[in-house]
Amino acid sequence: MGIVALPRHRYFSMQRPIYLDCHATTPVDERVLQAMLPYFRESFGNPASVGHLYGWEAEAAVKLAREAIATSINATPEEIIFTSGATEANNLAIKGVAESYHSKGRHIVTVQTEHRAVLDPCAYLQSLGFEITYLPVKSDGLIDLQELESAIRPDTILVSVMAANNEIGVLQPIADIGQICRDRQVLFHSDAAQAIAKIPLDVNAMQIDLMSLTAHKIYGAKGIGALYVRRRNPRINIAPQLHGGGQERGMRSGTLYTPQIVGFAKAVEIAIASQSEEQQQALKLRQHLWNRLSELDNIRLNGHPTQRLAGNLNVSFTNINGAALMLALQPIVAISSGSACTSAKTTPSHVLISLGHSKELAYASIRFGIGRFNTLDQIATVADHVLASVRSLN
Ligand SMILES: *Cc1c(COP(=O)(O)O)cnc(C)c1O
Repeated sequence: MGIVALPRHRYFSMQRPIYLDCHATTPVDERVLQAMLPYFRESFGNPASVGHLYGWEAEAAVKLAREAIATSINATPEEIIFTSGATEANNLAIKGVAESYHSKGRHIVTVQTEHRAVLDPCAYLQSLGFEITYLPVKSDGLIDLQELESAIRPDTILVSVMAANNEIGVLQPIADIGQICRDRQVLFHSDAAQAIAKIPLDVNAMQIDLMSLTAHKIYGAKGIGALYVRRRNPRINIAPQLHGGGQERGMRSGTLYTPQIVGFAKAVEIAIASQSEEQQQALKLRQHLWNRLSELDNIRLNGHPTQRLAGNLNVSFTNINGAALMLALQPIVAISSGSACTSAKTTPSHVLISLGHSKELAYASIRFGIGRFNTLDQIATVADHVLASVRSLN
């Protein structure tokens, strides 16, 4: 038996709730797991070991994976830097650009509804003397392109706008933003953690200069992601944030995590190959859920009705105690609410507040994240329970 004993927690004996929290993470796909397994024990070498077979096997696997991931976004393999996930990729992009380009300017433009992994590096840079403009969003969650245009100044070095929002699923007009940034000669970074392999992404057509990716939102393992860094037109230099063995052409030191990387590529390949089918299925399930829930007269949809991820439904309930609703639904369905629990403190979602919601309305909100393994039966069960719970609490 293992040395680490699992705690005998009461939750382990419960019937497992239906999982509808695919924006938080997803299970590893069986095909991804199978692709990863050989690289834990047989071909376990360090991809940087150039003197023997073990290293060569790992290096070859990483090379193929890098090519697959690059191809999926129309980049070249040299433009892919593996990281521990999108948090690290965002940090590397934002701090790396700030450190490299500060002599050109110290102004960055981003959006109020970005993930904390973008907002917090920006706040950190602010403490170092950078100026950050946080663009507001319209009530549908989209930014106003005119406002973006007027926010860009001669000393602006970077614009960072996410491709798909992790709470309300809203898809920003990435190609239009890319065009504006290129015209104004400002670098454009996009956090595509929720968008990768779910919507078509082409770094050239969309004129994206840096893009953050992660595996665990698309049925890959946790702890692996990548930053795309443009190498041509223009060539971008980012200052490394981790120093050491000089892996990833010096931009990100640390032994490459071969199994996770192989799995990441497999996850991307599967999701791209089944993209339209899978997104249509998610859309069908979402529409079914929304059709059922919109019977309620105290419900409202958060985020743009169509410019959003197929698997995302985010709703608020008026005159409902959000905590009581979550408690009622907990045994049935795994979802997220419009609150973020940071240590002991609960705060309302900054995304919902940016849409103009009150604290109470933000708390009384639910994010449904529908994914590959959900069925119509599950959605029907969840709809029944949400309707019943809301009616009993209203
Ligand atoms: C999940 C997520 C992240 C963080 O990604 P990790 O790989 O877990 O670090 C960043 N941005 C967005 C939009 C996300 O959804």
